[in-house]
Amino acid sequence: MLGPCGLVGYPLGHSLSPFIHQAFAAQFEETLRYTRFEVLAFETVVARFFADGGTGLNVTLPYKGASFDLVVESDRLARQAGAVNTLFQHNGVLHGTNTDGVGLVQDLTENLGLPLAGRRILILGAGGAVRGILGPLLFSGAEEIVLWNRTAARAEQLVGRYSNAAPGATPVRLFRPGRRREPGADLVIHATSAGLNAELPDIKAEQVAGSLCYDLMYGEPARGFRQWAQAAGAQAVYDGLGMLVCQAALSFRIWHGLEPDIPSVLEQVRQKISNAQAD
Ligand code: NAP
Repeated sequence: MLGPCGLVGYPLGHSLSPFIHQAFAAQFEETLRYTRFEVLAFETVVARFFADGGTGLNVTLPYKGASFDLVVESDRLARQAGAVNTLFQHNGVLHGTNTDGVGLVQDLTENLGLPLAGRRILILGAGGAVRGILGPLLFSGAEEIVLWNRTAARAEQLVGRYSNAAPGATPVRLFRPGRRREPGADLVIHATSAGLNAELPDIKAEQVAGSLCYDLMYGEPARGFRQWAQAAGAQAVYDGLGMLVCQAALSFRIWHGLEPDIPSVLEQVRQKISNAQAD
């Protein structure tokens, strides 16, 4: 039996994480207790979990920032994001990292076969998810990253923070629809939560026509951004389920030292969602 793990957040709804981590464990003929902690007392739950011998915790909304503040040791990915989604202890010291961005890049390049080198990327959104994905995207070989956000000041803040990240990093700039026509991006990454309120980001169809579109949202039938992008002439449209499974696999490897097979678990999760929709 692998060491106990879990997910902390609020609300957690029908989180797929327990299913994904248990499917990884089954690949190694292991069992795993993976608990949902849908809590308001974040710090107390984390302290008690590790005091009781827990191995690792995933952290989701709204605690990724609080989790960064809580850890004693953080790596470059966590510091770039200012957010932690994976907690573990080493010699009794609480460590944190962020597997979201590496998970996205892995899904794009390995699962979907979309190399990022030389591509122009337009990112829609400037919330926690974008902070998590920007670090790894900066070192993916992309030619340029352009940021759009409903509240422009938040995107501006991120551009300020990431524009001179490191020598050799992809340049980051603001979307500038007013000044000149923005050339179309090769890849549009939709990272807003507009879909939760059945809304769409206010951008023109021409910004996605002919582009590959990746929607961080997953699970629900392809409504919202994916349906809109398809109708607007996107070259292809993908959901964020692969990112969810890839980031989970990275956490699993950190906690248990085991490398799960991602495509087979991704297939199992898609099947589970499709069965639930058929019910
Ligand atoms: P967040 O921190 O709350 O940020 C929300 C973002 O959405 C902000 O940029 C906000 O813009 C924008 N937004 C909200 N309503 C909008 C609207 N009607 N029109 C345009 N923009 C709107 O949330 P987050 O953590 O970044 O999460 C964003 C999405 O990514 C969520 O759907 C989440 O489920 C998904 N996600 C997926 C994965 C995965 O593994 N696939 C991982 C992480 C997150 P303002 O700044 O103007 O408010």
